[in-house]
Parts: sequence; structure tokens; C-alpha cells
Amino acid sequence: MKKRVLITGGAGFIGSHLSDLFLSKGYQVIVMDNLLTGKMKNIAHNLKNKDFKFIKHNVTEYIDLKGDLFAILHFASPASPADYLKYPIPTLKVGALGTHNALGLALAKRCKFLLASTSEVYGDPLVNPQPEKYWGNVNPIGPRGVYDEAKRFAEAITMAYNRYHSVDTKIVRIFNTYGPRMRGNDGRAIPNFLSQALKDRPITMYGSGKQTRSFCYASDLIAGIYKLLLSKEHEPVNIGNPNEMSLLKLAKLIIRLTGSESKIVYEVLPVDDPKVRCPDIGKAKRLLKWHPKVQIEEGLENTIPSFK
Ligand code: UDP
Repeated sequence: MKKRVLITGGAGFIGSHLSDLFLSKGYQVIVMDNLLTGKMKNIAHNLKNKDFKFIKHNVTEYIDLKGDLFAILHFASPASPADYLKYPIPTLKVGALGTHNALGLALAKRCKFLLASTSEVYGDPLVNPQPEKYWGNVNPIGPRGVYDEAKRFAEAITMAYNRYHSVDTKIVRIFNTYGPRMRGNDGRAIPNFLSQALKDRPITMYGSGKQTRSFCYASDLIAGIYKLLLSKEHEPVNIGNPNEMSLLKLAKLIIRLTGSESKIVYEVLPVDDPKVRCPDIGKAKRLLKWHPKVQIEEGLENTIPSFK
């Protein structure tokens, strides 16, 4: 009998890469997605696989699923700032009610549960790089609060199910990730810059471009998530690439790699946009024997064809 995993949000960018990984490792995969921001084309290549099943469902509503599960990977949520500003209430609901429903299913099935959390729990951090023990600097009522606080609640309820119901839970704090299958119009820096550069259109730099991020390639992220799922750790683990760079440096690199004639134009910085972000990955290295392998230039070269 093959082990079965449920991936909520499995038609999204990261969820769909996770599906591929679990199928390649011999698992059966059920993807549950309401396609608010997920896309069928991300999973179309798996639809004929007898070990793969897609269920269209909003996990904010009760989840009814027959049979055993080995694990639930809870990835359902809008995740791009532009998306969660467009869908603030669904973002809060999937982080809160959706996580509750997914945990309830994990309790009923007595299976593992992995929460996709985020570096956004650190808000606009006053400590750089961010270790897991840092509690963050989040504005609860700002426009990003709908995502940040939903994920903070999701972490709290996940720990409660671990402590009070002994569910075998894991929490991954995902830092900026990129790769094929990101939506060209998802509003994040790498999809925007790549789409703009490939059309020789102006690169939209929000603020001065001195703000920093650290970009992790999708295959590195999912390798870390898989190791975390099989580990004994219950408290949050950062997974990301600590190669911190300014957005201006990223834009110039993308212009160079695409051979673009785009010019950089400066626009207003979104409210509460973090000034710095970089994962401290000491815990993941130590506990999971994991570290990212794909450097930014190689990762971008692999991503560019999917944006053409
Ligand atoms: N950003 C930008 N231009 C864009 C999109 C994003 O300058 O067209 C900036 C954004 O303000 C932030 C950084 O790029 O400082 C990363 O933004 P993204 O939306 O990718 O994700 P975040 O890390 O903020 O969650």
C-alpha cells in the first residue's frame, strides 16, 4: 500500500512542486484547492497519474475525506502581497478556519501535519537575519496584517494541536521562493521583474530598491520541507536561502540575464514593506542536514523559460 498525502493549496506554485516530489518518491497525492490563486495548469501533467487526485474544495469549509492519510501539508492561502491585499478576508479565513479544519482532519486520521508558515510572521524585522526564536515586529492592523496574523494564528493553533491533541505537527517558515510556475502577474518582485524585463518594459521598483530579500529556488525549498516532515521537530524551522540582496541588485541581475533594455522606474513603497529579510538557517542545517544548493543566477536561468 502506498502512503497517501493531502496537499491543500496543491495547485499553487509551491504546492504543485510538492505534489511532483511526493509522486516521485512513490506516494499517492491528493491535491485540494479552490483555485482562487492556484491554477489547473500547474497540476495538468499529473491528472492522468493513477496515484494523483484533484479535489476542488475550499478548505475554509469542513473537509470530508475517506481513507487513511500519512500526512497533510497545509499550503492553501494567497501568498503574494498583491493577492492577499485583493483577498483579505479569504486570506484570514484560510489561515484561521482552514488551518483548524486541516488540523481537525489530521487529528481524525492520526496523521502528520505540516503547516506552511512564512517569514512574514517576523513582520518588518528589527533583527537581521531572523532566527526562529525572534518573535517579530508585525503591524496587526496594517494591510499585510491579514496574512501575517492569519499565519501567526495558524502557528499558534498548530502548536496547540501538538500540545493538547498530540498531533505530530511541523511548521515551516518559508522565506521568499521563486521558480517555474509562479504566475507572471502574481505581483511579486521576481515574476514582475522577469515579465517586465522580457518585454523590455519598465522595471517597477517600489521605494529606493535598498530593501533586501533572500531568494530561495523552489527545488531547494521543497527538499527542506520533505526533510522537515520526516523529522521529529515540532517547533518552527526557517527554510530559505540566506543570500541576502537589495531589490536593486536583483533587478540589475534580471536585466543582465534576460539581455533586456528595460529601465528601472521608481514607485511608492507599499505600507509596512519589510526593509530587510534574511533567514537564519542554522536550525535547518543542524536538525535536517539541509542547506540550499541553487545559486540565484542558476535559479533565474531555470525560471526564465517559463516566463517566455
Ligand atoms: N517589489 C518591487 N517591485 C515589484 C514587486 C515587488 O520593488 O514590482 C518589492 C517589494 O516592495 C518588496 C520586495 O520587492 O520590497 C519583495 O516583494 P514581494 O512582493 O516579492 O514579496 P515580499 O517579500 O514583500 O513578501
